Amino acid sequence: MPSQALYLKWRPMTFDEVVGQEHVTYTLRNALQSGRVGHAYLFSGPRGTGKTTMARLLAKAVNCLADDVATRPCNECQYCVAVNEGRFLDLIEIDAASHTGVDDVRELRDRVAFSPNEGRYKVYIIDEVHRFSGAAFDALLKTIEEPPEHAIFILATTEFHKVPQTIKSRCQRFDFRRLTLAEIANHLGTILEYEGIAFEEAALELIARQATGSMRDAISLLDQLIGDLSQPLTLDLARSILGTADEQSIRDLVDAIVAGDTAAGLETIHIAMNQGADIRQFANQMIKYLRYVMLAQTGGTELVEAEIMPDDMVYVTAHAEQYPRRQLLSALDHFKEAAADSRTGWQPQLPLEMAFIQCIDDLYEVPDALPVQVVRAAPPRPVSQPPAQAEEPPQAQEPIAQEAPSEPPAEPAISLSDVHRQWQSVLRMARQMDLAVEALLKSGKLIGIEGSVILYQMPSELLRDKLEGDENRHIIEAVLAKIYNQPLTIRASRRTSQTDQRTKQVDELLANDSLVSFAVDELGGSVQSIENNEE
Ligand SMILES: [Zn+2]
Repeated sequence: MPSQALYLKWRPMTFDEVVGQEHVTYTLRNALQSGRVGHAYLFSGPRGTGKTTMARLLAKAVNCLADDVATRPCNECQYCVAVNEGRFLDLIEIDAASHTGVDDVRELRDRVAFSPNEGRYKVYIIDEVHRFSGAAFDALLKTIEEPPEHAIFILATTEFHKVPQTIKSRCQRFDFRRLTLAEIANHLGTILEYEGIAFEEAALELIARQATGSMRDAISLLDQLIGDLSQPLTLDLARSILGTADEQSIRDLVDAIVAGDTAAGLETIHIAMNQGADIRQFANQMIKYLRYVMLAQTGGTELVEAEIMPDDMVYVTAHAEQYPRRQLLSALDHFKEAAADSRTGWQPQLPLEMAFIQCIDDLYEVPDALPVQVVRAAPPRPVSQPPAQAEEPPQAQEPIAQEAPSEPPAEPAISLSDVHRQWQSVLRMARQMDLAVEALLKSGKLIGIEGSVILYQMPSELLRDKLEGDENRHIIEAVLAKIYNQPLTIRASRRTSQTDQRTKQVDELLANDSLVSFAVDELGGSVQSIENNEE
C-alpha cells in the first residue's frame, strides 16, 4: 500500500528518532539504564502521537543484546532485527478492539505464565485497551497485579477516561501529547529532503495543520501528495489535492464577520475557492473553528487545547472575546446549513456567501456600512431600492417624492414586503438601543407604507403618543435608516375606525380576490396600497 510506505519507512527505530514526547523517552531511557523497567505501562494520548511506536522501542530495548545499555535498541542484534521484521516471538501485540472478550484475556493470562521463547522479556502491547469489556479488564487486572518477572505490559489508549481506575493505578502512566505544527512540519521537511523532493514550507504547514497533531496522519497525507508526482510539493498543489482552505482563510473570514467587513469576507471566500478549496470542507472548517471559539467562551479551553495546534490557540481566544455568544450559535447554524447545501452545481459558493452574510446580519443587523454599489454588485441579495434611483445622486430623489401626489400612486421607496422582511432586525436593533422602544414597537403592528413613511398601528392613544414622542421616534428612525439604508419615518395611528376600515378592506380583498391571496399567502407578498384599488 503506497499510502503506508512513508509512514513505515520513517517509523522511529531509536529513542532519538522519536519526534516530541521527550518526557516519555527521557523517563524510559532512565529506567532502562538503571535496570528499573516496570511491569505495566499505560500510554495515553491522541491517535498518531507515537504510543505504539514507543511501545515497540521499549520492547526492543528490554530485549536488546547490545553491551552498552545506552545504545539499546541497537537495531543490529538478532532480537532487534526480529522485532523490526515483525517476527519476534516474545513481542505480542493485541488489538483490544478485536479481542474484547474475556476468553481472549484468559488465554493471554495462561500464556503469560510461560517463560519467554527467546528474549529476556515477554512484552505485551495491548492497543486501544479501553475497548476491553468489563470482564476482560478484570482478567487483565489479575494478570498485571501479580505479573511474572519476565512479563511487561504496555497498554495504549486514546480514551484514558474509559480505562478503569483499578487498571490505571497498577500502571506507570505516560501522556502522549499532540505534536506542534513546527515539530510536524520540520519532520516532513526532513523526510522530503531525504527523499529528494523539493517543497514549499507553506505546503508542509498546511499538511501539519490538517493532521492536527498526529504525525501518522501528517505522513500519510504527505504520502498521498507526493505519490502521484515528481514535481515539487507547492502550497497550491497541496491545497488543490487536499481540497482544503488554509487555516488563515478561516480566521480571515471570522475576522471579517466580527468586523462587519462584507467585502473582505467575500473576497476571502472567493480566493479560497479559486485556490481549490472545497465548499463543503470550507463550511466544515468554519464549523470546526467556530466550535472551538464557542468552547473557549464557555470554559472549555482545555477541550480546545487538546484538539488544536498550540500555535492556533491565540486566535481562538481572541475570537472568543470578540464574538457575542448568541450570534456565534447562529453562525454555527448558518455554516451547518451551508455545509448541507453545498452540493448544488449552480453558483456553488452561494451557500457559503449566504452563511457569511447572515452572520454579519446577526451581528450588525444589516450591512449598513456597505456602499450601495457593493449591494448592487452582489446578485443574490435583494436590492431594497430600484437600481435607477440608487445610481442617481441623492438630490434626484426629491423631485420623485414631490411628484408623488399628482402622479398615479407614488412608487414606494421601499415595498411593504421589504419592510416586513427585515422587521425582526429592526426589533433587534431597537432592543439594543432601548428596550422600551422595542416593547413599544412590539405592542403595535406594521400596516403599510406610503412613500418613505411606515404606517404603524398602535393599540391605544397613549402608546401612539409614546411611539411618536420625539425621543422614541428619533431612535426608531435611526434604526430604520440603518436597517433599510435610506431615510424612513414612522407614523403611528391608534386603532381607529379608519385603520379598522383599511384592515377590513385588506381582509375582504384577500377573501375575494384569489390572485391577491395567492400573492400574499404563497409568494409572501403583501398589500401595498389600498387607495390604488379604490381608484
Ligand atoms: Zn539490539
